[in-house]
Amino acid sequence: MIPFVYSRASSVAEAIRLKADNPGAKFLGGGTNLVDLMKYEVEEPVQLIDVTRLPLARIEPLQNGGVRIGALVRNSDLALHSLIVKAYPVLSQALLAGASPQLRNMATTGGNLLQRTRCYYFYDTAFACNKREPGSGCSAIGGHNRIHAILGQSDACIATHPSDMAVAMTALDAVVQVQGASGSRSIPILDFHRLPGTTPDVDTNLQPDELIVAVDLPPAPAAANSRYLKVRDRASYAFALVSAAVALEMQNGQIRDARIALGGVAHKPWRALEAERALAGQAFNAAKLREAAEIALRSAQGYSDNRFKIELAKRTIVRAFSELRA
Ligand SMILES: Cc1cc2nc3c(=O)[nH]c(=O)nc-3n(C[C@H](O)[C@H](O)[C@H](O)COP(=O)(O)OP(=O)(O)OC[C@H]3O[C@@H](n4cnc5c(N)ncnc54)[C@H](O)[C@@H]3O)c2cc1C
Ligand code: SF4
Repeated sequence: MIPFVYSRASSVAEAIRLKADNPGAKFLGGGTNLVDLMKYEVEEPVQLIDVTRLPLARIEPLQNGGVRIGALVRNSDLALHSLIVKAYPVLSQALLAGASPQLRNMATTGGNLLQRTRCYYFYDTAFACNKREPGSGCSAIGGHNRIHAILGQSDACIATHPSDMAVAMTALDAVVQVQGASGSRSIPILDFHRLPGTTPDVDTNLQPDELIVAVDLPPAPAAANSRYLKVRDRASYAFALVSAAVALEMQNGQIRDARIALGGVAHKPWRALEAERALAGQAFNAAKLREAAEIALRSAQGYSDNRFKIELAKRTIVRAFSELRA
């Protein structure tokens, strides 16, 4: 491991100042991704700014009926919180489908959003990887790409975002609250993660000096009738091949609000807005769900090892909806 300086921030302002003063520094949450990447020498921060003692570990109801989740709330605490289990079951299910109990006890909300891809070549410095070393090439396109993207990819990178939690938050229209040297701002989660384009080394639209302080979940009747379905190679302790976060609100026998977000298919959690619009005002039945799934995957493109994901994603959407109250 490369030597680094360890600092513990005692306030949000101090954390932001330390980061602004040292562009080579990184915030440290639970460390479950960052420390692994440092051991592999994929990430080499010169300073770690430990933010885990900051007062950002609360889950609070918002006046508008939604919920604010502090950036340092641990994944286990979030998954089991009564407000989340009751009003946003898709989020609780997504968290419990991720990693292991020990990892969830360490992992934070902010760190989970910013965890990096699990592309094998990204973790192995012997291989070319545009995300790790811009301009070096992408070993996955002509290599092993079973776990890679089928939507939104580019010639530079076909990696997927690995978070389960972020997929559920995408279906829920979450808003990421951040603070930086120039003030605070709110970033809708749809605009938080990026597609790879020609700069796959940049995962998100967060600025280098910005700290995630919270994530807000707006109120929505559909959120209480929601489901996360994750398909993976093992029943636990494995990342999603494909996952679907769905939510449904019915009115007078018709779909009033349908939400679909997919995981394991793109560089960011993938919201299927066109498919959602196709469901609005329709009856809830298998044919309509399949039609929507076809729309959601219309632009999908597979590679040598991952074409199976296209049909798998369609079936995952249909099955996830079929487990909701209609
Ligand atoms: C074996 C294994 C299996 C796993 N399986 C799954 C799985 O199935 N599903 C899944 O979703 N995840 C899985 N994970 C990933 C795990 O969920 C993440 O490692 C974890 O959520 C990261 O959170 P953290 O707090 O530990 O982040 P850290 O490792 O501390 O940080 C991650 C990144 O976020 C930055 N950061 C942290 N907090 C903030 C903040 N408040 N503001 C700005 N930047 C910040 C750090 O600088 C770093 O760049 C797995 C991990 C392992 C090791
Ligand atoms: S898919 Fe992206 S992360 Fe994986 S090797 Fe290619 S450039 Fe690197």
